[in-house]
Amino acid sequence: MKQLVVIGGGVVGLTTAWALVQAGHRVTLVERAAALAQGASRANGGQLSYRYVSPLADAGVPLKALGWLLDRDGPLRLRPDGTLAQWRWLGAFLAHCKASTNRRTTARLLALGAFSQRCFLELQREAALNAIELRTPGKLVVYRKPAAFERAARQSDPKGPERAMSRDECLALEPALGDCGEPWLAGGIFTAGEAVADCHAMCLQLGRRLEQHPNFRGWVHAHALGFVEEHGRVVALRSTEGELAADGFVLAAGLQSAALAAPLGIRLPLYPLKGYSLSAPIGGQHRPPAVSVTDFERKTLYARIGQQLRVAAMVDLVGEDTSLDPSRLAALHRNVLASFPKAADYSQAVPWAGLRPATPSGAPMLGATPLTGLWLNVGHGALGFTFSFGSARILADLISGRPSPLDLDGLALRAA
Ligand SMILES: Cc1cc2nc3c(=O)[nH]c(=O)nc-3n(C[C@H](O)[C@H](O)[C@H](O)COP(=O)(O)OP(=O)(O)OC[C@H]3O[C@@H](n4cnc5c(N)ncnc54)[C@H](O)[C@@H]3O)c2cc1C
Repeated sequence: MKQLVVIGGGVVGLTTAWALVQAGHRVTLVERAAALAQGASRANGGQLSYRYVSPLADAGVPLKALGWLLDRDGPLRLRPDGTLAQWRWLGAFLAHCKASTNRRTTARLLALGAFSQRCFLELQREAALNAIELRTPGKLVVYRKPAAFERAARQSDPKGPERAMSRDECLALEPALGDCGEPWLAGGIFTAGEAVADCHAMCLQLGRRLEQHPNFRGWVHAHALGFVEEHGRVVALRSTEGELAADGFVLAAGLQSAALAAPLGIRLPLYPLKGYSLSAPIGGQHRPPAVSVTDFERKTLYARIGQQLRVAAMVDLVGEDTSLDPSRLAALHRNVLASFPKAADYSQAVPWAGLRPATPSGAPMLGATPLTGLWLNVGHGALGFTFSFGSARILADLISGRPSPLDLDGLALRAA
């Protein structure tokens, strides 16, 4: 049994803490906010997208990005934030925009997704997670442009769980797609078995289960400031509540992990990809989509979470800025009203902005570091809710001295 400290009380830190206590370790969680899951895990898209992982870095994306940047309602925005980190990240991202690199990353993420799904089912049972609005409606990725749909249909594996659907088949599966008067879709790819849940509710419930667990030492409401290193080993965490000594430390502080690792000489290539969400109430008169829908061209997700429609969208490279930009919110409102006008009461929608902690490739960074006692679980980007369960189990196995249940090639710490 080891004494461990997990830094970060978002979905990644909480699932890691759970996997570690289940593995028999004693765990303390350090979170700077007064409540759990107030960062990227607060109001995300809610999709558990185990089989549709689609890393952003791909061949053709730099050219498409130019078009998106010129479109005032486009899914992408770039504003120089005055840091070298932004240009470095962009350079590394562009280097990953190759079909062969995308195929490799996709294969790794699909393996992590399938493993994560199994780990989620176990966690749900072990922690009796019952108030998280979990549904398994399947996921429909819809395409506006016939050429994009035909390409996706050609690439989908006929032996796999995905099914290419014509426009009419999509409308039969999800009638809400026809509510805008002139349906805008060319076709879609449907994957049965994909799920939706309330990430924030799950984090809060998992936090309560942890507090009842005999191996959990509690969570410290404190700002982690840095590490104490002795002869290549991290021995303590410095925090606003004093020093915490332990046998091991898991860095799961989302975007802020980079600043905590940097003084140790570990450069984590993380950059915030800002996204927005709307949570709009669903009344008796509304027709929300039953399946979870992703609008491929507009990079917009629609998921029913309980009595709310959660719409999540946009990738803005504007630095560490969580402000609600009125022009982006207006664009999101125009988009949802044109696509699903009858799905929810958008006049009552609660807006939110969060920062996806993203690596250039789109793959998280898991496992050991060059320093004994310091472990990473960071960089989950656009799919941190989906991958958190599998990533947490990998960390727990490694820290317990067992081999990783998945090949970590491309997922472990590597030169940026
Ligand atoms: C708009 C949007 C939509 C998304 N949709 C989906 C989706 O549909 N499906 C999906 O799988 N994923 C989705 N994601 C991605 C997912 O939300 C993130 O990948 C995930 O929440 C990252 O979790 P995390 O725990 O690493 O980071 P966070 O949730 O940000 O948690 C990090 C925690 O560390 C704490 N912390 C930071 N610094 C310190 C410090 N120095 N000391 C102590 N504590 C510290 C923070 O306060 C925070 O609580 C979406 C993200 C966004 C923004």
